[in-house]
Amino acid sequence: MATSGTNLEHARAHNRRVVIEAIRLNGELTRAEIARLTSLTPQTVSNIATELEQAGIVSSHLPRRFGGRGQPATPLTLNPDSAYSIGIHLDHQTLLVVLVDLTGKVRFRRLIKVQKPEPESTLQLIVQTLQEMRQNVKIDWRKMLGVGIVMPGPFGVEGISSQGPTTLHGWDNVDVVARLSAETGWPVTLENDATVAAIGERFHGVAKQLTSFVYLYIGTGLGAGLFTEGRIYTGHAHNAGEVGHMVVQPGGRACYCGNHGCLERYLSLQAAYEGCGLDPNTAMPEDLLGVKQEIFERWLDSAIEPAFQAINIMECVFDPQSVIIGGMMPQPLVERLIARLTPLYSSVRSRYPTTARLRIGMTGTDTAALGAAALPIFDEFNPQYEVLLK
Ligand SMILES: [Zn+2]
Repeated sequence: MATSGTNLEHARAHNRRVVIEAIRLNGELTRAEIARLTSLTPQTVSNIATELEQAGIVSSHLPRRFGGRGQPATPLTLNPDSAYSIGIHLDHQTLLVVLVDLTGKVRFRRLIKVQKPEPESTLQLIVQTLQEMRQNVKIDWRKMLGVGIVMPGPFGVEGISSQGPTTLHGWDNVDVVARLSAETGWPVTLENDATVAAIGERFHGVAKQLTSFVYLYIGTGLGAGLFTEGRIYTGHAHNAGEVGHMVVQPGGRACYCGNHGCLERYLSLQAAYEGCGLDPNTAMPEDLLGVKQEIFERWLDSAIEPAFQAINIMECVFDPQSVIIGGMMPQPLVERLIARLTPLYSSVRSRYPTTARLRIGMTGTDTAALGAAALPIFDEFNPQYEVLLK
């Protein structure tokens, strides 16, 4: 059972992240603006701001004056060089490593082609790449918050995890987090691609102002990242949002999980490759751009009803402000998918149509890696914060 002391410590760390996030989203804020946006008391905001300023994480600027009345207000901004993080995205064909500063700006990026990556050689490749980065990027490495790594889920589910084309083979019993943190000395966080893309969208993308949303991530398979009231929802065994294996067409296409009619057999890169006559073992997302329009539209014919159902289920279960669709499928093709997704089934969500029910998210190769880089920043329990705040 938690003691009140840990609750207080938790609240402090949580409030600190909320303040950092508010400044990041808005670029620059005064203490009063932060208090208004976060519903924290002015005293709490003031204490946190002082702590962050002393640690060099935020900087004060010349006061703004409002018509000469009252106290001048001092705007705060994040100091980009006060903290860094690394994002790693491993998929079936690519390994992408990025380093970002606290404001999300990319300071290093390396894309490496891999083919059905095996654990041992791939972990070595990652460590090697990080060593090269450390030698070549001139930053204060003591300010590294940690590494976020993203791999396709689900994790540790008998019969789903290491079989079939949409998950990585041989990784089930590899403790990626322990291995990489031992090699690097940094905190390491592992997440699935859909959750990470949702976090990235909240930090850098169209979900900046949303507190509850569902992110449908079209990767090799299909997953959903879930945000409820400003927090990610990961479920009991960290596999919430593995919607690719929801049965949407009973008796439909056979899935390697043993069911028939799973959603990702219709809506995923894998399904698109198959539907467009590409070899699913070697095709890359960009290859779909070279497919004739009518062939792609014919694939959409088979994907669209499962997509309608998936959105309907997500809306009914989570009552999100928006369902965001994005991932590794090239943007023009996601746009064509979204153009066909109208009218949506009516649901609880049709009652307040003021914001877009369906939005296009970030797409393309960097989405998951940037989201992964947000993980160490997003983790309010990251021990590196205590190091920075000393
Ligand atoms: Zn399945």
